[in-house]
Amino acid sequence: MTTLNTYDHFFFKDLAALLTGQIILPEDETYEQVRQIWNGGVTTHPMAFVRCANTQDVIHALRWVRSHGLPLSVRGGGHDFAGRALREHGVVIDCSLMRKVTIDPQTRTARIQAGTTASDLIAAAHEYGLVTTTGTGSGVGMAGLTLGGGYGPLMGAYGLATDNLLSAQVVTAAGELVIASPSEHPDLFWGLRGGGGNFGVVVALEYRLHPLTTVLGGLLLYPVEQAREVLHRYNEVIATAPDELTILTGFFQNPDGQTMLFLSPTYCGPKVEREQVLALLRTFGKPLVDQVQPVEYHDLIHALDALAPKGRHYYIQTQSFQGLQTRTIETLIEQGLPLTSPFSMISIHNFHGAASRVSASETAFALRQDHLMFEIIAAWEDQSADEEQKHVQWARMLSQSLAPSALKGGYINLLEEREQERIPLALGSNYERLLDLKRTYDPDDVFSSTIAHIAPAAS
Ligand SMILES: Cc1cc2nc3c(=O)[nH]c(=O)nc-3n(C[C@H](O)[C@H](O)[C@H](O)COP(=O)(O)OP(=O)(O)OC[C@H]3O[C@@H](n4cnc5c(N)ncnc54)[C@H](O)[C@@H]3O)c2cc1C
Repeated sequence: MTTLNTYDHFFFKDLAALLTGQIILPEDETYEQVRQIWNGGVTTHPMAFVRCANTQDVIHALRWVRSHGLPLSVRGGGHDFAGRALREHGVVIDCSLMRKVTIDPQTRTARIQAGTTASDLIAAAHEYGLVTTTGTGSGVGMAGLTLGGGYGPLMGAYGLATDNLLSAQVVTAAGELVIASPSEHPDLFWGLRGGGGNFGVVVALEYRLHPLTTVLGGLLLYPVEQAREVLHRYNEVIATAPDELTILTGFFQNPDGQTMLFLSPTYCGPKVEREQVLALLRTFGKPLVDQVQPVEYHDLIHALDALAPKGRHYYIQTQSFQGLQTRTIETLIEQGLPLTSPFSMISIHNFHGAASRVSASETAFALRQDHLMFEIIAAWEDQSADEEQKHVQWARMLSQSLAPSALKGGYINLLEEREQERIPLALGSNYERLLDLKRTYDPDDVFSSTIAHIAPAAS
């Protein structure tokens, strides 16, 4: 049972008087509902949620929380598996209701508020036949995704989500609203693109959009007996695949309880080349299911949602590789299968093309070589400690078995607090510069509950 450090509404009255939004406390009926994030296994109980309605609310909240010396966290879309949007006994600056999206079809740009999800942005841009890079999950917050990098089905053609960021409005630790762009606070703009939530509350983001409506996409499913053959073929194909073809692969269980290898290709190139791409995809063994067809990107992005619904218990580990070596494929199959739960899965993102052509020093996101990013996703419903241990253990063991041949570091959005030593490795040659930036923008480490936490005192 969690003991709450509770304060009543009277304690927050001065802040409440300044807000358009609301303050939710443990004594309120809606507290439990507001506390729910994607990972139902997160038990963190904040002392308060400041449900911000606009930028001014964020500024007031930040200044008030700091003036009272209280710990805080920032919530965007609430999809961080480790639950860093919430902080035990802390105040959550909750941006999840700030979801306005404005599209400018002339300049092909989108302006979004801090709580906007991938689905919100895709739906609004779709009205104008435009898209930008998002992740594979429709409910994921664009803020957290972008601050960590943002792998997605369009990254080969358009780069990471963060590569499409044109500017951001940020409330700094000092409670000041600043613009970060190539011409204003360029240092901060650099750090936001892959440096996590270390430097402030991002209240608005502006993205470059690209003309696109339909892609070739869908699922190909193979029995595990074909996994070696298909994964070796995958490794060959991605080495020469065009930028416009990004293929996600991995394992999940179908509703009949069979573990399947899946390929989830997205091809966003010229329509006349689709037949060629289909022919290439059909060289991957004999699929039991082949649903690859022209599909609106808008619809494609919802296709995998059912695999990772909000509210289950989740635990994620990550490793990245330069290609799929035989040893990696063997470890994956020998150690990773069978999946310990019908809901667990492994997914492998192919980082390539436009995302790889950005230099390592151009943005804070440092791993700019072609690679494969593994997500080992343990998911379960039973709430017993034994169940939890079994699934967490599976993810950790598989990750450890894969680690010797993995690239150092890993994807910062998926590294948890206990893996803090992997953060400098992930940020690579950009780490020292990010440390300086942290000392400039957040010397008191106000934003310590974040993905890729950088402690300003670190030498
Ligand atoms: C179902 C699912 C699918 C996913 N798919 C992908 C994928 O395809 N590609 C990929 O790259 N990642 C993917 N992820 C990982 C995802 O990018 C990260 O979990 C990301 O941090 C989620 O962002 P959020 O805003 O929803 O997170 P939150 O939980 O709200 O926030 C997480 C952290 O991000 C920071 N943050 C969030 N909003 C702000 C803000 N406005 N200002 C400052 N800091 C902020 C804070 O540090 C916060 O602690 C996926 C996650 C899930 C659950």
